[in-house]
Amino acid sequence: MASLMKLRNVNKIVGVLRNHNASMASAAVMPNRNPDIQHKQVFINNEWRDAVSGKTFPTVNPATGEVICHVAEGDKVDVDIAVKAAQDAFKLGSPWRRMDAGERGYLMNRVADLIERDRKYLAELETLDNGKPFQVAYNVDLELVLRCYRYYAGWADKNHGKTIPIWGDFFCYTRHEPVGVCGQIIPWNFPLLMQAWKLAPALSLGNTVVMKLAEQTPLSGLHIASLFKEAGLPEGVLNIIPGYGPTAGAAISRHPEVDKVAFTGSTEVGQMVAADAAQSNLKRVSLELGGKSPNIIFSDADLDMAVDQAHFGLFFNMGQCCTAGSRCYVEEGIYDAFVEKSMEKAKNRTIGDGFDPNNDQGPQVDEDQMNKILAMIKLGKDQGARLITGGGRYGDKGYFVQPTVFSDVADNMTIANEEIFGPVMQIMKFKTVDEVIERANINKYGLAAAVVTNDISRALNVANSVRAGTVWVNCYDVFDSCSPFGGFKMSGNGRELGEYGLEAYTEVKSVIIKVPTKNS
Ligand code: NAD
Ligand code: MG
Repeated sequence: MASLMKLRNVNKIVGVLRNHNASMASAAVMPNRNPDIQHKQVFINNEWRDAVSGKTFPTVNPATGEVICHVAEGDKVDVDIAVKAAQDAFKLGSPWRRMDAGERGYLMNRVADLIERDRKYLAELETLDNGKPFQVAYNVDLELVLRCYRYYAGWADKNHGKTIPIWGDFFCYTRHEPVGVCGQIIPWNFPLLMQAWKLAPALSLGNTVVMKLAEQTPLSGLHIASLFKEAGLPEGVLNIIPGYGPTAGAAISRHPEVDKVAFTGSTEVGQMVAADAAQSNLKRVSLELGGKSPNIIFSDADLDMAVDQAHFGLFFNMGQCCTAGSRCYVEEGIYDAFVEKSMEKAKNRTIGDGFDPNNDQGPQVDEDQMNKILAMIKLGKDQGARLITGGGRYGDKGYFVQPTVFSDVADNMTIANEEIFGPVMQIMKFKTVDEVIERANINKYGLAAAVVTNDISRALNVANSVRAGTVWVNCYDVFDSCSPFGGFKMSGNGRELGEYGLEAYTEVKSVIIKVPTKNS
């Protein structure tokens, strides 16, 4: 029964994700293209303030290239003030430390209720600032955000320790305590969801937080700060700094009084964060980094389903997913048909402003990302891959890239090895299971993988053999707050989500008590 229910839930989520194109056409919720921007400042101690330097930076609508507004640019000085606030909020006897664990859970549920109240507004901010289609932001991102806050609300009073039968006349138990002041640095591809994955476990378990938002997408995360305040979060528990990576971000990972840093973004910056953490105070580090995920398609699969799955696995969120299935290995018997159908599907994507419900694909997040993707496409062509559709910028306003498909990609080409983070699909041919498993594993990343087949033995063989933190069988990008997520190899350290995700925000303390016996 339980597993049946689970299956239904999974199917429902797959449905939400897989059918996001269909849900656009029948969208009941009509967005406001010009939402009022209420928060543009640094959030410390439940107060809004300008950056100490007085500086601001522009945030841009990537569909038009126009500046939406200017946001306070926090840097090291603001981070220092925020860390002090978070330390004070974490002091023994503070309102936060005195709050019952169950009450923290209630508070988190109140935040979720407020997010639900403001769901449309938050999705509008997400589309305006990030470019993603509004119906996806509203139906997919916000749904997963709500589930994440509610899931960890439930854990607030359940993350408990053990009693342990050690040798001798002692009573030994463990306490699960919060780590302390947690620095959190998030990216721009799923601004609200990446924020939820970090804030929900950290705060439910009683930590305090200094979070840096991505400079490309600061608006929705700032509104969330106001909802925590409205829900009654004590001051100093959550502090949010909009700003740049090398200044505000590095100030967090280098800070001697920050107890832990959690980072999601590129592998390159992840290495810097880990080095800064080690050199400053050996703060705990958890990293969710890049990927180059293999999607292995066997010839026994339903071809149309396989093409759909691979298309969604790559093009979802304009290809800006760390899990993007960007190495499609297709068995030789169906290779030509798969290439042909994948080309047709890519050609049929509708591109344009994310506020228009007819568009499947919005812009890339900014001009830098667009140019990086176009440079990778050029490399693909130069190195001999066959460009079968797309290959250029779409339009001349905003940062759109044509849906692009390369076939005949060889394992040693740059586009087969480096993360592109854009709507660019690589298709390769394989002959045998052993060969494809070996090829799938040669990459430095190990975030996700997928296999499409009707043969359960083969599916399990691949699932057991690929070195990746998540393996999808006959589906792609199925995420759930209950299921852990993270990378093998250079895709990161640690896990987010699920019960495993508690570990990153928990210190375990052993307490050992002498128990006097009658005769001693
Ligand atoms: P990035 O790694 O530079 O940015 C991620 C976050 O880290 C941002 O908040 C940024 O301000 C911050 N940051 C940057 N430099 C920092 C530093 N020295 N110290 C501390 N924090 C720092 O990513 P990007 O430049 O936005 O994108 C570049 C590439 O990264 C993309 O093309 C993509 O391949 C990858 N990426 C991956 C993810 C993911 O979800 N794994 C998300 C975004 C980008
Ligand atoms: Mg923006």
